[in-house]
Amino acid sequence: MKAIGSITIVLVAIATIGVASHFRSSAAVGAAAPPSGFVLVAHGGAGDYSSMKAEQTEMRRSAMLKAVQSGYAILTKKGSSLDAVEATIRVMEDSGLFDAGRGSYYTREGIPEMDASIMDGRTLNAGAVASLKHIANPIHLARLVMEKSPHVMLVGEGAEEFARSQGIEPVSPYLFFNEREWERYQNAKSAEEKKKSAGLAANKQHGTVGVVALDQAGNLAAGTSTGGTVLKMPGRVGDSPILGAGTYANNESCAVSGTGTGEFFMRNIVAADICERVRYLRVTLEQAANDVVMKELVEQHGDGGVIALDPKGNVAMPFNTEGMMTATVRVDGKVTMQGWSKNAKPIIVSVTK
Ligand code: ASP
Repeated sequence: MKAIGSITIVLVAIATIGVASHFRSSAAVGAAAPPSGFVLVAHGGAGDYSSMKAEQTEMRRSAMLKAVQSGYAILTKKGSSLDAVEATIRVMEDSGLFDAGRGSYYTREGIPEMDASIMDGRTLNAGAVASLKHIANPIHLARLVMEKSPHVMLVGEGAEEFARSQGIEPVSPYLFFNEREWERYQNAKSAEEKKKSAGLAANKQHGTVGVVALDQAGNLAAGTSTGGTVLKMPGRVGDSPILGAGTYANNESCAVSGTGTGEFFMRNIVAADICERVRYLRVTLEQAANDVVMKELVEQHGDGGVIALDPKGNVAMPFNTEGMMTATVRVDGKVTMQGWSKNAKPIIVSVTK
Protein backbone atom coordinates (compact mmCIF):
# COMPACT_ATOMS: atom_id res chain seq x y z
CA MET A 1 0.00 0.00 0.00
CA LYS A 2 1.21 3.48 -0.76
CA ALA A 3 -0.27 6.85 0.15
CA ILE A 4 -1.06 9.51 -2.44
CA GLY A 5 -2.12 12.55 -0.47
CA SER A 6 -4.78 11.35 1.91
CA ILE A 7 -5.94 8.65 -0.41
CA THR A 8 -4.79 5.11 -0.02
CA ILE A 9 -4.00 3.45 -3.26
CA VAL A 10 -3.11 0.03 -4.39
CA LEU A 11 -0.25 -0.11 -6.82
CA VAL A 12 -0.68 -2.78 -9.40
CA ALA A 13 1.77 -3.17 -12.21
CA ILE A 14 0.07 -4.72 -15.19
CA ALA A 15 2.64 -5.21 -17.85
CA THR A 16 0.14 -6.38 -20.41
CA ILE A 17 -1.82 -3.15 -20.50
CA GLY A 18 1.13 -0.87 -20.00
CA VAL A 19 1.72 2.35 -21.80
CA ALA A 20 5.18 2.26 -20.42
CA SER A 21 7.04 2.26 -23.67
CA HIS A 22 8.22 5.33 -25.50
CA PHE A 23 5.95 6.36 -28.36
CA ARG A 24 3.48 3.78 -27.27
CA SER A 25 0.83 3.96 -29.93
CA SER A 26 -2.36 3.20 -28.09
CA ALA A 27 -3.63 1.46 -25.03
CA ALA A 28 -6.75 -0.55 -24.55
CA VAL A 29 -7.67 0.11 -20.94
CA GLY A 30 -9.72 -2.87 -19.81
CA ALA A 31 -12.55 -4.37 -21.76
CA ALA A 32 -15.38 -2.57 -23.52
CA ALA A 33 -18.11 -1.24 -21.24
CA PRO A 34 -20.89 -3.71 -20.50
CA PRO A 35 -24.47 -2.59 -21.19
CA SER A 36 -25.32 0.09 -18.64
CA GLY A 37 -21.64 0.46 -17.85
CA PHE A 38 -19.80 3.73 -18.03
CA VAL A 39 -16.30 5.01 -18.65
CA LEU A 40 -14.52 8.28 -17.97
CA VAL A 41 -11.02 9.15 -19.17
CA ALA A 42 -9.12 12.30 -18.19
CA HIS A 43 -5.81 13.73 -19.37
CA GLY A 44 -3.60 16.37 -17.81
CA GLY A 45 -1.39 17.13 -20.79
CA ALA A 46 1.20 15.39 -22.96
CA GLY A 47 4.92 16.02 -22.93
CA ASP A 48 8.16 15.17 -21.20
CA TYR A 49 7.64 14.98 -17.46
CA SER A 50 10.85 13.07 -16.76
CA SER A 51 12.39 16.10 -15.06
CA MET A 52 9.37 16.63 -12.85
CA LYS A 53 10.06 16.09 -9.17
CA ALA A 54 8.40 13.02 -7.65
CA GLU A 55 6.39 15.11 -5.24
CA GLN A 56 5.08 17.23 -8.12
CA THR A 57 4.02 14.10 -9.98
CA GLU A 58 2.31 12.80 -6.86
CA MET A 59 0.41 16.06 -6.47
CA ARG A 60 -0.86 15.79 -10.03
CA ARG A 61 -1.86 12.17 -9.56
CA SER A 62 -3.70 13.06 -6.43
CA ALA A 63 -5.49 15.94 -8.18
CA MET A 64 -6.43 13.75 -11.12
CA LEU A 65 -7.75 11.10 -8.80
CA LYS A 66 -9.89 13.66 -7.01
CA ALA A 67 -11.12 14.96 -10.35
CA VAL A 68 -11.98 11.52 -11.67
CA GLN A 69 -13.74 10.68 -8.39
CA SER A 70 -16.09 13.59 -8.93
CA GLY A 71 -16.91 12.38 -12.44
CA TYR A 72 -17.35 8.83 -11.19
CA ALA A 73 -19.77 9.97 -8.48
CA ILE A 74 -21.99 11.48 -11.18
CA LEU A 75 -21.83 8.56 -13.58
CA THR A 76 -22.46 5.96 -10.93
CA LYS A 77 -25.74 7.72 -10.04
CA LYS A 78 -26.81 7.57 -13.68
CA GLY A 79 -25.78 11.19 -14.23
CA SER A 80 -24.93 12.43 -17.71
CA SER A 81 -21.55 12.24 -19.37
CA LEU A 82 -21.80 16.00 -19.91
CA ASP A 83 -22.11 16.65 -16.17
CA ALA A 84 -19.27 14.25 -15.46
CA VAL A 85 -16.98 15.90 -18.00
CA GLU A 86 -17.64 19.36 -16.61
CA ALA A 87 -17.26 18.32 -12.96
CA THR A 88 -14.01 16.47 -13.59
CA ILE A 89 -12.48 19.36 -15.51
CA ARG A 90 -13.52 21.89 -12.87
CA VAL A 91 -11.54 20.04 -10.22
CA MET A 92 -8.47 20.08 -12.45
CA GLU A 93 -8.92 23.78 -13.24
CA ASP A 94 -9.18 24.57 -9.53
CA SER A 95 -6.14 22.50 -8.58
CA GLY A 96 -3.66 25.01 -10.04
CA LEU A 97 -1.50 22.08 -11.10
CA PHE A 98 -2.34 21.92 -14.79
CA ASP A 99 -2.31 24.39 -17.66
CA ALA A 100 -5.97 25.28 -17.12
CA GLY A 101 -7.88 27.54 -14.76
CA ARG A 102 -5.65 28.55 -11.83
CA GLY A 103 -2.58 26.80 -13.22
CA SER A 104 -2.73 28.35 -16.69
CA TYR A 105 0.46 29.21 -18.56
CA TYR A 106 1.18 32.87 -19.22
CA THR A 107 1.11 34.76 -22.46
CA ARG A 108 3.96 36.93 -23.66
CA GLU A 109 2.51 39.70 -21.51
CA GLY A 110 2.73 37.57 -18.39
CA ILE A 111 -0.95 36.90 -17.76
CA PRO A 112 -3.06 33.86 -18.62
CA GLU A 113 -5.64 33.74 -21.39
CA MET A 114 -7.83 30.68 -21.19
CA ASP A 115 -9.81 28.63 -23.70
CA ALA A 116 -12.28 25.77 -23.19
CA SER A 117 -14.97 23.77 -24.93
CA ILE A 118 -17.51 21.07 -24.20
CA MET A 119 -19.55 18.91 -26.58
CA ASP A 120 -22.54 16.63 -26.19
CA GLY A 121 -22.28 13.53 -28.38
CA ARG A 122 -26.02 12.87 -28.23
CA THR A 123 -27.19 16.17 -29.70
CA LEU A 124 -23.96 17.60 -31.15
CA ASN A 125 -24.63 20.69 -29.07
CA ALA A 126 -21.46 22.41 -28.02
CA GLY A 127 -20.13 25.48 -26.24
CA ALA A 128 -16.74 27.11 -26.44
CA VAL A 129 -14.95 30.12 -24.97
CA ALA A 130 -11.59 31.69 -25.74
CA SER A 131 -9.23 34.42 -24.60
CA LEU A 132 -10.69 34.66 -21.09
CA LYS A 133 -8.74 36.59 -18.46
CA HIS A 134 -11.10 36.79 -15.51
CA ILE A 135 -13.02 33.52 -15.39
CA ALA A 136 -12.06 30.91 -12.79
CA ASN A 137 -13.76 27.97 -14.51
CA PRO A 138 -13.75 28.34 -18.30
CA ILE A 139 -15.31 24.89 -18.77
CA HIS A 140 -18.40 26.03 -16.86
CA LEU A 141 -18.72 29.10 -19.04
CA ALA A 142 -18.38 26.92 -22.15
CA ARG A 143 -21.28 24.83 -20.84
CA LEU A 144 -23.35 27.97 -20.29
CA VAL A 145 -22.61 29.17 -23.83
CA MET A 146 -23.95 25.83 -25.03
CA GLU A 147 -27.07 25.86 -22.89
CA LYS A 148 -27.92 29.52 -22.34
CA SER A 149 -26.87 31.30 -25.51
CA PRO A 150 -27.89 30.84 -29.14
CA HIS A 151 -24.19 30.52 -30.07
CA VAL A 152 -21.45 27.94 -30.00
CA MET A 153 -18.46 30.15 -29.25
CA LEU A 154 -17.88 33.41 -27.40
CA VAL A 155 -14.50 35.07 -26.95
CA GLY A 156 -12.78 37.76 -24.91
CA GLU A 157 -14.84 40.60 -23.49
CA GLY A 158 -18.07 39.35 -25.05
CA ALA A 159 -17.64 36.00 -23.33
CA GLU A 160 -16.87 37.68 -20.01
CA GLU A 161 -19.88 39.96 -20.38
CA PHE A 162 -22.03 36.90 -21.02
CA ALA A 163 -20.51 35.30 -17.89
CA ARG A 164 -21.62 38.30 -15.82
CA SER A 165 -25.12 38.03 -17.25
CA GLN A 166 -25.17 34.43 -16.02
CA GLY A 167 -24.15 35.42 -12.50
CA ILE A 168 -20.46 34.52 -12.80
CA GLU A 169 -18.33 37.09 -11.00
CA PRO A 170 -15.10 37.99 -12.78
CA VAL A 171 -11.96 37.24 -10.79
CA SER A 172 -8.72 39.19 -10.62
CA PRO A 173 -5.90 37.94 -12.88
CA TYR A 174 -3.93 37.64 -9.61
CA LEU A 175 -6.02 34.57 -8.83
CA PHE A 176 -4.06 32.86 -11.57
CA PHE A 177 -0.67 33.93 -10.27
CA ASN A 178 1.58 31.21 -8.95
CA GLU A 179 5.32 30.88 -8.46
CA ARG A 180 5.65 27.84 -10.73
CA GLU A 181 4.08 29.54 -13.71
CA TRP A 182 5.93 32.79 -13.09
CA GLU A 183 9.19 30.82 -13.13
CA ARG A 184 8.22 28.95 -16.30
CA TYR A 185 7.39 32.28 -17.92
CA GLN A 186 10.70 33.87 -16.91
CA ASN A 187 12.70 30.84 -18.05
CA ALA A 188 10.91 30.71 -21.39
CA LYS A 189 11.54 34.42 -21.92
CA SER A 190 15.22 34.24 -21.17
CA ALA A 191 15.63 31.08 -23.29
CA GLU A 192 13.98 32.90 -26.15
CA GLU A 193 16.17 35.96 -25.73
CA LYS A 194 19.27 33.79 -25.75
CA LYS A 195 18.19 32.23 -29.00
CA LYS A 196 17.38 35.69 -30.35
CA SER A 197 14.39 34.10 -31.93
CA ALA A 198 10.91 35.48 -32.27
CA GLY A 199 9.44 32.00 -32.58
CA LEU A 200 7.63 30.04 -29.93
CA ALA A 201 9.84 29.10 -27.00
CA ALA A 202 10.20 25.36 -26.65
CA ASN A 203 8.13 23.94 -23.84
CA LYS A 204 8.05 20.23 -23.50
CA GLN A 205 5.32 20.08 -20.91
CA HIS A 206 1.77 20.56 -22.05
CA GLY A 207 -0.67 20.71 -19.19
CA THR A 208 -4.03 21.17 -20.84
CA VAL A 209 -6.79 19.12 -19.25
CA GLY A 210 -9.46 17.13 -21.03
CA VAL A 211 -12.10 14.52 -20.31
CA VAL A 212 -14.19 12.12 -22.38
CA ALA A 213 -17.04 10.12 -20.86
CA LEU A 214 -19.68 7.56 -21.71
CA ASP A 215 -22.68 7.45 -19.37
CA GLN A 216 -25.10 4.68 -18.48
CA ALA A 217 -27.57 5.89 -21.10
CA GLY A 218 -24.88 5.35 -23.75
CA ASN A 219 -24.17 9.04 -24.41
CA LEU A 220 -20.71 10.40 -25.09
CA ALA A 221 -19.33 13.82 -24.15
CA ALA A 222 -15.96 15.56 -24.39
CA GLY A 223 -14.42 18.68 -22.89
CA THR A 224 -11.07 20.44 -22.86
CA SER A 225 -9.73 23.42 -20.89
CA THR A 226 -6.40 25.20 -21.24
CA GLY A 227 -4.23 28.22 -20.72
CA GLY A 228 -2.68 27.46 -24.11
CA THR A 229 1.02 27.49 -24.84
CA VAL A 230 3.82 29.24 -22.95
CA LEU A 231 4.60 32.74 -24.25
CA LYS A 232 1.76 32.63 -26.73
CA MET A 233 0.89 35.96 -28.31
CA PRO A 234 -2.00 37.76 -26.64
CA GLY A 235 -5.12 36.83 -28.56
CA ARG A 236 -3.74 33.50 -29.74
CA VAL A 237 -6.37 30.78 -29.62
CA GLY A 238 -5.36 27.12 -29.69
CA ASP A 239 -7.14 23.92 -30.61
CA SER A 240 -8.82 23.24 -27.27
CA PRO A 241 -11.90 25.43 -27.86
CA ILE A 242 -12.07 24.62 -31.58
CA LEU A 243 -14.61 21.87 -32.16
CA GLY A 244 -13.13 19.16 -34.31
CA ALA A 245 -9.56 20.22 -33.52
CA GLY A 246 -9.02 19.73 -29.77
CA THR A 247 -12.48 18.52 -28.77
CA TYR A 248 -15.23 16.51 -30.43
CA ALA A 249 -18.07 14.16 -29.47
CA ASN A 250 -20.62 12.28 -31.52
CA ASN A 251 -22.55 9.23 -30.32
CA GLU A 252 -22.22 7.82 -33.85
CA SER A 253 -18.46 7.57 -33.60
CA CYS A 254 -16.46 8.75 -30.60
CA ALA A 255 -15.46 11.45 -28.12
CA VAL A 256 -11.98 12.98 -28.22
CA SER A 257 -9.94 15.51 -26.24
CA GLY A 258 -6.43 16.42 -27.34
CA THR A 259 -3.33 18.00 -25.90
CA GLY A 260 -0.21 19.19 -27.67
CA THR A 261 0.85 22.11 -29.83
CA GLY A 262 -2.56 23.33 -30.90
CA GLU A 263 -1.52 24.73 -34.24
CA PHE A 264 -1.00 21.16 -35.51
CA PHE A 265 -4.28 19.97 -34.05
CA MET A 266 -6.12 22.79 -35.80
CA ARG A 267 -4.47 22.26 -39.18
CA ASN A 268 -5.24 18.56 -39.01
CA ILE A 269 -8.69 18.81 -37.35
CA VAL A 270 -7.41 15.99 -35.18
CA ALA A 271 -10.44 15.24 -33.01
CA ALA A 272 -12.95 15.28 -35.87
CA ASP A 273 -10.63 13.33 -38.15
CA ILE A 274 -10.42 10.49 -35.63
CA CYS A 275 -14.20 10.37 -35.20
CA GLU A 276 -14.95 10.59 -38.92
CA ARG A 277 -12.51 7.80 -39.71
CA VAL A 278 -14.47 5.65 -37.28
CA ARG A 279 -17.78 6.78 -38.82
CA TYR A 280 -17.00 6.58 -42.51
CA LEU A 281 -14.08 4.18 -42.82
CA ARG A 282 -15.45 1.90 -40.11
CA VAL A 283 -11.99 1.38 -38.67
CA THR A 284 -11.57 0.73 -34.97
CA LEU A 285 -11.12 3.67 -32.62
CA GLU A 286 -7.62 2.50 -31.88
CA GLN A 287 -6.63 2.44 -35.53
CA ALA A 288 -8.17 5.82 -36.25
CA ALA A 289 -6.50 7.47 -33.26
CA ASN A 290 -3.14 5.88 -34.01
CA ASP A 291 -3.23 6.82 -37.67
CA VAL A 292 -3.88 10.46 -36.87
CA VAL A 293 -1.60 10.92 -33.86
CA MET A 294 1.23 8.53 -34.65
CA LYS A 295 1.38 8.99 -38.43
CA GLU A 296 -0.14 12.25 -39.61
CA LEU A 297 0.98 14.38 -36.66
CA VAL A 298 4.38 12.72 -36.40
CA GLU A 299 5.07 13.35 -40.10
CA GLN A 300 4.49 17.04 -39.44
CA HIS A 301 6.41 17.05 -36.13
CA GLY A 302 3.19 17.88 -34.35
CA ASP A 303 3.67 16.87 -30.73
CA GLY A 304 0.83 15.69 -28.54
CA GLY A 305 -1.72 13.03 -27.81
CA VAL A 306 -5.43 12.35 -27.43
CA ILE A 307 -7.82 10.46 -25.25
CA ALA A 308 -10.62 8.87 -27.28
CA LEU A 309 -13.66 6.82 -26.31
CA ASP A 310 -16.30 5.10 -28.43
CA PRO A 311 -19.93 4.20 -27.61
CA LYS A 312 -18.91 0.63 -26.74
CA GLY A 313 -16.50 1.87 -24.09
CA ASN A 314 -13.33 1.20 -26.07
CA VAL A 315 -10.55 3.60 -25.16
CA ALA A 316 -7.55 4.74 -27.22
CA MET A 317 -4.90 7.12 -25.91
CA PRO A 318 -2.01 7.46 -28.33
CA PHE A 319 0.65 10.10 -27.71
CA ASN A 320 3.80 10.86 -29.67
CA THR A 321 5.51 12.60 -26.76
CA GLU A 322 7.47 11.13 -23.87
CA GLY A 323 4.36 10.87 -21.80
CA MET A 324 0.73 11.84 -21.33
CA MET A 325 -0.89 12.04 -17.92
CA THR A 326 -4.09 10.01 -18.01
CA ALA A 327 -6.61 8.48 -15.63
CA THR A 328 -9.40 6.10 -16.65
CA VAL A 329 -12.26 4.94 -14.46
CA ARG A 330 -14.90 2.35 -15.21
CA VAL A 331 -17.98 1.11 -13.42
CA ASP A 332 -15.93 -1.04 -10.99
CA GLY A 333 -14.37 2.12 -9.53
CA LYS A 334 -10.80 1.24 -10.45
CA VAL A 335 -8.84 4.19 -11.77
CA THR A 336 -5.98 3.30 -14.09
CA MET A 337 -3.31 5.96 -14.29
CA GLN A 338 -0.91 5.46 -17.14
CA GLY A 339 1.31 7.06 -19.72
CA TRP A 340 2.85 9.46 -17.20
CA SER A 341 6.41 8.72 -18.18
CA LYS A 342 8.40 6.51 -20.47
CA ASN A 343 8.99 3.66 -18.06
CA ALA A 344 6.21 4.15 -15.57
CA LYS A 345 4.02 1.17 -14.88
CA PRO A 346 0.26 1.73 -14.80
CA ILE A 347 -1.08 2.43 -11.35
CA ILE A 348 -4.50 1.22 -10.35
CA VAL A 349 -6.25 3.16 -7.66
CA SER A 350 -9.55 2.25 -6.10
CA VAL A 351 -11.91 5.18 -6.29
CA THR A 352 -14.22 3.67 -3.70
CA LYS A 353 -11.35 2.75 -1.34
N1 ASP B 1 -3.33 22.27 -27.09
C1 ASP B 1 -3.12 23.39 -26.23
C2 ASP B 1 -2.99 24.65 -27.07
O1 ASP B 1 -2.29 24.62 -28.06
C3 ASP B 1 -1.90 23.26 -25.38
C4 ASP B 1 -1.84 22.00 -24.55
O2 ASP B 1 -2.28 20.95 -24.96
O3 ASP B 1 -1.32 22.05 -23.43
O4 ASP B 1 -3.53 25.65 -26.71
